[in-house]
Amino acid sequence: MTTSRLGIHALVFAGGTTPAEVERIVAETANAGYDLVELSLHDEANLDVDLARTAVEAAGLEVVASRGLAFDADVSSDDTATVARGAALLHSSLETTRRLGGTHLTGALYSALGKYGRPLSTAGRANAVATIRDLAAEAAPLGITLGLEVCNRYETNVVNTAADALRLADDIGHDNVRIHLDTFHMNIEEDDLVRPVHLVGDRLGYVHVGESHRGFLGSGHLDFAAFFRALADISYTGPITFESFSSAVVSPTLSNDLAIWRDLWSDGPELAAHAHAFLSTRLERLDVD
Ligand code: MN
Repeated sequence: MTTSRLGIHALVFAGGTTPAEVERIVAETANAGYDLVELSLHDEANLDVDLARTAVEAAGLEVVASRGLAFDADVSSDDTATVARGAALLHSSLETTRRLGGTHLTGALYSALGKYGRPLSTAGRANAVATIRDLAAEAAPLGITLGLEVCNRYETNVVNTAADALRLADDIGHDNVRIHLDTFHMNIEEDDLVRPVHLVGDRLGYVHVGESHRGFLGSGHLDFAAFFRALADISYTGPITFESFSSAVVSPTLSNDLAIWRDLWSDGPELAAHAHAFLSTRLERLDVD
């Protein structure tokens, strides 16, 4: 397990990605000892990609890009124009990932991030499959892996379980489409934190570690010992990224999409240092067993 790189989501440090925010995100990520920073592309309009790449490389960090889509730009829609807007967002995000020097683009690439008022339609699912299939073909020669993040029912109606995500990936049919598990979402939808990891096995490409309430690790009720043992069972060596949100650090868009209404912490750097120690300790324990 020692080969897993530890990452952190940028929203622990700043709500957006203006140049000043990116400088702070990168400095704090490196300062807390992480190997990787995950930049959400929800604020892509303010992201100076060249500056971000320079800052990340200067700090010796790896970068991962993530995003969800929007209800008016949604590849799982039945409406052709809405699907086309979603596909354009994905295309642009892939280009941004390449320019950042990233090798992973992950998240809710298949739908909006938010509560749907109806089940996914057959036509909508086919649209998502076809769009992501094209994106995967475009990503493969760039050496970029696409992640399908399994999100809970209040944030998508496309994939709520690891089994759903595996079926979607099978239908997309490209090897560079991998599964992204997140303990916060698993806690809501799965039977436990172990069986989904075993089910996904070597198709697991990315991991988000978040508490049951998305606050300090260890202050909720998730069985992280079982989760990390399951990762060891499948010899997972990919990135493990800490994700946490509080109304102390607000993105005008992403925080609302994720329903971040509470102050679970106020000091991002303190939270980041705590999470790094928490994760490192658990990974080290697996190595000595
Ligand atoms: Mn997540």
